[in-house]
Amino acid sequence: MIYPLKNRAISTVIDTTFPPAQQQRQAQVVLDPLTQVDLAALRAEVRAGYDAGTPRFLCPACTGPLFVAQNPASPGVPDDGRGAHFKHHVVKDAPPCALRSEANLRSIGAVKFAGLGEGADHAALKQQLAMALSQDPDITDIRIEQQIRASDGTWCQPDVSAMIKGRLVAFDLQLAGASLPSIQNRTEFYRANKVCHVWLTAAGNLDRLGQLAFRDLHLVMGGRIFAIDPEVVAACVENAAFQLKELSLAPRLAPPLPLHNVWDVNLVDKTIITMDPDKRKNEGEERYWRALLAQVTALFGPDRAIIRQAASQRKNLGWVAPQWFAIVSQIRGPSTSAAMDDNVSEVLAWLHAVEAYTRAHDEAKCAIALQSLQVATERLLTVQNAQDWAPFVEMTCRRWAWLPTLLSPDNQARLHVLLATTVQVKPLIRRYAGMIAVLYPWLSFRLIVKAPKFGPSRLRGPGAS
Ligand SMILES: [Zn+2]
Repeated sequence: MIYPLKNRAISTVIDTTFPPAQQQRQAQVVLDPLTQVDLAALRAEVRAGYDAGTPRFLCPACTGPLFVAQNPASPGVPDDGRGAHFKHHVVKDAPPCALRSEANLRSIGAVKFAGLGEGADHAALKQQLAMALSQDPDITDIRIEQQIRASDGTWCQPDVSAMIKGRLVAFDLQLAGASLPSIQNRTEFYRANKVCHVWLTAAGNLDRLGQLAFRDLHLVMGGRIFAIDPEVVAACVENAAFQLKELSLAPRLAPPLPLHNVWDVNLVDKTIITMDPDKRKNEGEERYWRALLAQVTALFGPDRAIIRQAASQRKNLGWVAPQWFAIVSQIRGPSTSAAMDDNVSEVLAWLHAVEAYTRAHDEAKCAIALQSLQVATERLLTVQNAQDWAPFVEMTCRRWAWLPTLLSPDNQARLHVLLATTVQVKPLIRRYAGMIAVLYPWLSFRLIVKAPKFGPSRLRGPGAS
């Protein structure tokens, strides 16, 4: 089903990362295929580009910079790219534009949710955090709401700060809807000033982790977020060490349910809390897909191996129909005939070529793998419904930063033409996400990670461990 696009006043955008003369893209083609993780990653990328003075998307009418906003949450609004739209930045003295809509505070995430925000909750949590920190003999200079000033005069005021083993650490509590610009301004300030920055939330009410402001934090951090509650403080007192709860998204394969996500909760120490953000993100994503790999191997091992073998030989899916059926019937995936009609065989052959490249270690093998990859790309981008798969290639290129550089000039030109299509694209990424995640788990974080609707306390249904 295609979600009706009521909220897209801006239906065409200029994508400055595309070759000149090919920069006009349909908002539908850019946004609709995005998964939750891709949407969070694109929002972060667009914001960082804007802050750096190199905005990625421009308005076709006034060439003003645009950002990716999400429609206000309500039942029936998907929380992936289908529920997103482009909006003008609110810039002082900006030229008038027919496509500019009134700034909608909720859509930029600036509205605090009723009863939350700078309330009693927030003040109590700052005290809890300071208390937890004060239990640790390695931690000094604990301050609540103390400004941190940079040499250029800019400053930030974290909720709590402390020196941990000689390093300044700033803590911010996310309870309501801190907007993406405010999240990123802080991230950039602390990074520039070599201050370790830690976001955390209240473990008491985790249902809200599905809200946009939280997704902007944990989905770009390998599905991880820290939390505090009285139980954590008690553990700190008992162990005389600073600890926090860490929530991590984990895959759950429980046929006949579709693949879904749950929150894992662990008590973690200072090493994890002050870990380098890029390392924490990569580790989170890797832990996620390795957990999925273990589950799919245990459940579908032989069938999965046969399908992957067929993909490596570019065999039509008809050859592995029984194995395909055995898996899709367990995870509610599309039938073999639908997959054949959608040219999934070429997609799997392409993914095999990408994977094979990552495994080629000596120079001769790399050269062969590179050539196979370019041929497989050409084949995928020339199938009859190639415009529906082009966003998938784009997504995989975001997963592996080196991948776009391996595509031949022909591959790249073809991909750009397809992504600049004015035809409505079909949501094939969403349709095959579960099956592709089972077969090629290294792509699963982008494909199937979603914030669960409920926090950990509510997911203990039948069968949950
Ligand atoms: Zn405009």
